[in-house]
Amino acid sequence: MSFNLGFIGPPTIQEDALCFLLHGQKLLIEKQGDRYLIPQFRDLEALDSSPEPLHYLGSLDGRPCYAGEMAAMIPSPTTFEFKGIRSLFEHLEAPLIGVAGLANQLILWNRNHRFCGNCGLKTEDKVDERAKVCPACGQINYPRLSPAVIVAVVRQDRLLLAHSRRFPGKFYSVLAGFVEPGETLEECVQREVGEEVGIEVRNIRYFGSQPWPFPDSLMIAFTAEYSRGEIIADPAEIDDAGWFLADNFPPIPPKISIARQLIDWFTENSGKGGKRA
Ligand SMILES: [Zn+2]
Repeated sequence: MSFNLGFIGPPTIQEDALCFLLHGQKLLIEKQGDRYLIPQFRDLEALDSSPEPLHYLGSLDGRPCYAGEMAAMIPSPTTFEFKGIRSLFEHLEAPLIGVAGLANQLILWNRNHRFCGNCGLKTEDKVDERAKVCPACGQINYPRLSPAVIVAVVRQDRLLLAHSRRFPGKFYSVLAGFVEPGETLEECVQREVGEEVGIEVRNIRYFGSQPWPFPDSLMIAFTAEYSRGEIIADPAEIDDAGWFLADNFPPIPPKISIARQLIDWFTENSGKGGKRA
């Protein structure tokens, strides 16, 4: 499955278009036995409330995708239900989760930018690009993106993993943090690692990136080598942190996340005697 981001959709909505409908950051899905399906446009008639308007997102394997906000919390018929997007990680294919996240991000942005931050008047949708424009003062607002770094720190045959107080579950992961105004991504890696566990790193290398729309992050992933210092976890952020061998990991994040891709990269390269960072 491949998704092509778009702004202007077809003139009419196809019956089989996928509709990513949200209520309070939960996604409407149709349950058919053990399977979870994204509702199609033709299914909307059966629902007792309809999203207005639908925002075109792009196409998934040529199929148009839309986002909309639902008012009703209890959908009928009962084969439909609202589920938190994170709880669907194991039930939907990664591209569907990606579009669901995008829908969630844009619906939130849409709701939070109904009024101009400069003069307070009602904003309008810009016709030629995804933005809100104020008809009075002309201020333009684009969907917000919050860049964050995420880094796999390697010390010989061990990987630094930590349990953050922010994590919803018991799992451990690599370190991450938001980029602050005025700093480069590499400076952010050094600062975050320093603040969270008190060590220094070197050889910071780009690994990859992933939109993480919960609600509006872009994760930029790096690998780094341990340089010096001993782990002293910041108790405000980190419950526990340590160096782990690949065959002795605590619970780690789901496959879909770039955090997991970093951890899997370490696992694949660990023990091969190859270059790790
Ligand atoms: Zn204004």
